[in-house]
This record gives sequence, C-alpha cells and structure tokens, in this order.
Amino acid sequence: MITETPLVIESLTDINQTQAQDSWNQILSGATRDVKTLLNQLDIPITELNERQQACLDFPMLVPQPFINKMEKGNASDPLLLQVLPQASELESAEGYINDPLAEKHSNLQKGLIHKYYSRVLVLLSTGCAVNCRYCFRRHFPYQENRIGKNDWQEILNYVAKDSSIEELILSGGDPLMLNDQQLEKFIKQAEEIPHLQRLRIHTRLPVVIPQRITNKLVNVLHSSRFDCIMVLHINHSKEIDDQLFNALSKLRAAGITLLNQAVLLRDINDTVDDQIDLSKSLFKAGVLPYYLHLLDKVSGAQHFDIEQDDALILHAQLLRSLSGYLVPKLVREEPGKGSKTPIS
Ligand code: SF4
Repeated sequence: MITETPLVIESLTDINQTQAQDSWNQILSGATRDVKTLLNQLDIPITELNERQQACLDFPMLVPQPFINKMEKGNASDPLLLQVLPQASELESAEGYINDPLAEKHSNLQKGLIHKYYSRVLVLLSTGCAVNCRYCFRRHFPYQENRIGKNDWQEILNYVAKDSSIEELILSGGDPLMLNDQQLEKFIKQAEEIPHLQRLRIHTRLPVVIPQRITNKLVNVLHSSRFDCIMVLHINHSKEIDDQLFNALSKLRAAGITLLNQAVLLRDINDTVDDQIDLSKSLFKAGVLPYYLHLLDKVSGAQHFDIEQDDALILHAQLLRSLSGYLVPKLVREEPGKGSKTPIS
C-alpha cells in the first residue's frame, strides 16, 4: 500500500497489546511435538503410537497451542486435528505419489529463489513453519540446502533488479512470517529500492495457528510500504477462524492489506459442500476472499487426503449453485513446468 502515513500505535491498550503480541515466538517454542502429549491434552485415546512416531521421523509433528485450543476435546475426527496428527498410512507408498510432486528441486535458479511464473518470483525467505501440515507438498523439500543468509538475500534482489519483467515478489517458505518483524522490514525496505517491483505477496499459515503473529509492528511495516501488499492465508476449515484470528485479520484489513485465502481440498476435513460453504462465508465475514481451492499435490505420505478430481468437480459445481460467485474459490491444480496454476473444469 502506498502511503506516507504510518499506522501509529498510540493508546495504552495498544502498547499492552504490542507486548502481548511479541510473545508469538514464545508460543512457537512451546509448540507440541509429541503425539502422546497432543492426544492426552485432547482426551483422545492413544492408538497406533509406534506408527505415528515412525511417521514423525520422516516429517516431525509440530502444533502450536492456539491451534490446539480450536480443536474439540474427545473428537478423534476433529478436522483441525486430522491436519496435523501423523497417521500410520503415511508410511505406505502409493503409486503416483512422489517426494517432489512439483519438481521444485530442479527449478531453483539460486538458493531461495524459484522463478517459474512470468512477472513474479517466489522467494523462500524462511525454511521453517510454525505447524507441520501432514498434506504439505514440501514435506520432503530439502529446506536445509535452501536455507538462505544475508548474502543470498542480496543475490536474490540482484537477480530481481536485473529483470524488469518482475513486478511481484511472492514470499513463501516454509512460512515467511517465521522471520521476525525487523528482518522482514529490512528485506522489504531493500526490495522497495527496485523500481519495477510493485507488489508484495506473503503466503502464510502462521497467523492461523498463532494469531499473535500479527503484531502491530508487522501491520505498520506492511501499511507503510510503498508496495501493494497482499496476504494469502491458508485456512482450510471454518473452525480455524476463531475470535483471535478474526481480530488479527481486522487489523490487517484496517491497514489496507488485501486478504485472500487458498485452501487445499482434503478428504474427511473439508470435502463436503457444507464444509466449503461454511468456510467461504466465514472467510468473507473476516474480510478474506476465497481465492483458490487446490487439489492435493500428490506428495508421498499424503495420499489418504486425496480426493478424486471428478468428485472435486461435482463439489465445486454445487458451490457455484449455492453461493455468490465471489464466494466460490477457483478449483485448481499445480502442475510441474506449467506457467500458472491449472484450472480444473
Ligand atoms: S504451513 Fe504451508 S508450507 Fe508449512 S507445513 Fe503447512 S502447508 Fe507446508
């Protein structure tokens, strides 16, 4: 957003809020990493413990407390729990499901940079997330090899500066909001010096699992940037939007940040018409436009989440009949080597 007016935090309430919100990284360090602890906390009987623990060796479990607080106690089928709880089925191999479904390993030009779409580049600013979603298409991505430092930042920005067709920086990861506000501010300020860059897009799930991540400082940084700022949230179920997240999103909206959502269509989590209608309506109430509904990227270990494309099309047609057009996300799939997402129709 282009503005000269910083969003000034003045009242005592706001100052207290700033202090409270600074604790997001403490919440993150206290995130639950142990299957038994998670299930005990939710009063859910512990089953298949060995298999679940084995699945964690391949892709660790990580769930922050604010996300656990949104789960229903005693409900082993809770749609939020199923997104993060390791399953025995992750250990099975399935035909057509591979470690790098989008062939990203070979599309990197240089560390932390993926340039596969015209006019925009993807910058992997952070190699970590605040939650490990079991369906993640990057669950096998070699983040360690792609960890970037200050020199890499400069090289990424040098690359962008040389290509005037690039108008948009997409910060992804991992989750770019894993960087602290000072680091983000520094990166954004450096990027602002490149005249052909117009937009900054941040893809994040972090506020969904730790709403305290939307600090006043972060809101100020985005509000005062010369870029048009877009935040693409990753919310899969209406239960993920509680009062805390709703309030955090309100601040971003008040600061002029465009809010969009992309969800993944997931078996037993959000694969009914009612689930999707509730999600779209709740998003809109929170000032977020439903943008994309992704078919699952066929990553190994996540096959139990997949939905047949024909079933997804039937569901999407029902949404079109039930909702206003602006509440219906585009049904898409990502395909390796394609210059944009592939609409499913
Ligand atoms: S937040 Fe996004 S990148 Fe991180 S584990 Fe979840 S789906 Fe993957």
